[in-house]
Amino acid sequence: MDDCLFCRIVAGEIPATTVHETPAILAFRDIDPKAPVHVLVIPKDHHADVASLALADAGLAGELLAAAAAVAEAEGLRGDGFRLLFNTGGHGGQEVAHVHAHVLGGAPLGPMLC
Ligand code: 5GP
Repeated sequence: MDDCLFCRIVAGEIPATTVHETPAILAFRDIDPKAPVHVLVIPKDHHADVASLALADAGLAGELLAAAAAVAEAEGLRGDGFRLLFNTGGHGGQEVAHVHAHVLGGAPLGPMLC
């Protein structure tokens, strides 16, 4: 997808700070972190959101979750806990239409809606 920001990061056209990579997955630091640790974990293939990904390729969705867990481990978040978040669609507050898991932690994050 030529006009997709995260596809352009995967292609190396836009710089990002990579923290974890597999043949199918890329994880990089959020440009505007909302917590001391804020990493985005994406499949390199373009899928618009987590629902589209899960329906199209459940195996890749599982790889995405495993990579998010590996990032949490590598960033030292497992002991105190962390938040794993998929904003999905307009009402979900998703701004970039390439599925991404937010891995957030490093401090108490406070309550959310659920
Ligand atoms: P969303 O609101 O779609 O769930 O989250 C999009 C995230 O992408 C936001 O947290 C935002 O800060 C991050 N972001 C937007 N543009 C860039 C960029 O060019 N590079 C990086 N590393 N993160 C970005």
